[in-house]
Amino acid sequence: MEEIPVKVAVRVRPLLSKEILHNHQVCVRLVPNAKQIIIGKDHVFTFDFVFGKNSTQEEVYAVCIKPLLVSLTEGYNATVFAYGQTGSGKTYTIGGDHIASVAVDERGIIPRAIQELFHHISEHRNINFRVKVSYIEVYKEELRDLLDLETSVKYLHIREDEKGNTVIVGAKEFQVECADEVISLLESGNAARHTGTTQMNEHSSRSHAIFTISIHQKQSAEYQNAAQDSISSKFHFVDLAGSERVAKTGNTGERFKESVQINSGLLALGNVISALGDPKRKSVHIPYRDAKITRILKDSLGGNAKTVMIACISPSSLDFDESLNSLKYANRVK
Ligand code: ADP
Ligand code: MG
Repeated sequence: MEEIPVKVAVRVRPLLSKEILHNHQVCVRLVPNAKQIIIGKDHVFTFDFVFGKNSTQEEVYAVCIKPLLVSLTEGYNATVFAYGQTGSGKTYTIGGDHIASVAVDERGIIPRAIQELFHHISEHRNINFRVKVSYIEVYKEELRDLLDLETSVKYLHIREDEKGNTVIVGAKEFQVECADEVISLLESGNAARHTGTTQMNEHSSRSHAIFTISIHQKQSAEYQNAAQDSISSKFHFVDLAGSERVAKTGNTGERFKESVQINSGLLALGNVISALGDPKRKSVHIPYRDAKITRILKDSLGGNAKTVMIACISPSSLDFDESLNSLKYANRVK
């Protein structure tokens, strides 16, 4: 059987201390050894991976992400998304924020992947690696370069080159030599993400952040076979905008328009992933062009690329509606 290119995981975070303090009840539970989750009385969902409140960052990384990192080093593109309402654990899981101040055990996906990549590089001295990073934000269907605020207002263009690779023309790419360099670029991008906004969480919950590591590898001269080209591949780490529904946020005017744009981007992404999972996908149209996020990721979804979607869920019964919506979304893309 042909392998489905998209795997879907669900992760339920623990109740937060303030939720415990306010006596929130838990409305989700896992079915032991069954990769199933039950929400409310009787809504049962099955996924490729299910992580409960006691799951560790290491476990999530080892199970979902390590295979993608291996593919990356073999020359394939990879993408991981964190999906879910604001406060459900997306940033915690992706691990893109406050890296320096987080205990090593608590580190999320990005720092673990970076560490493993540089470890791989150090163990393959016969290969010349070039590693580059970029960091882009999509806000209201506009792109911002988080590594180059000076030019962030300038328009960044999404293009497809002759080999079918997606490139963002105008985006800064920094060549890096070690893990620490990557982390410091990531942190400076995060700082940029928050400028010009009154409230950090406000803004980050309304934009998609795409952190990308690209690698180029070539055998060292002494091993080189003249016919052999260099191999290029990239890994996107995507912290999606909060998936909460428009009505609940109770916004009007600009805010309403913003919410509609966010939801249509997430919908477009769901449509693309769902089309990719369709057994008839060779013949169905994959609607990449419907949103910026799907255009940017086009060469890293489907085809030979590996994709993992992690739907993050709050366990609180106050978030029942949003959690059910997230599970339905994840179930559709599965
Ligand atoms: P989001 O990015 O989806 O808005 P966050 O990642 O910021 O949500 O998580 C919200 C809060 O919950 C943060 O305080 C975070 O540290 C905590 N949290 C999220 N997931 C977990 C988890 N699996 N274990 C412990 N704390 C978590
Ligand atoms: Mg977040």
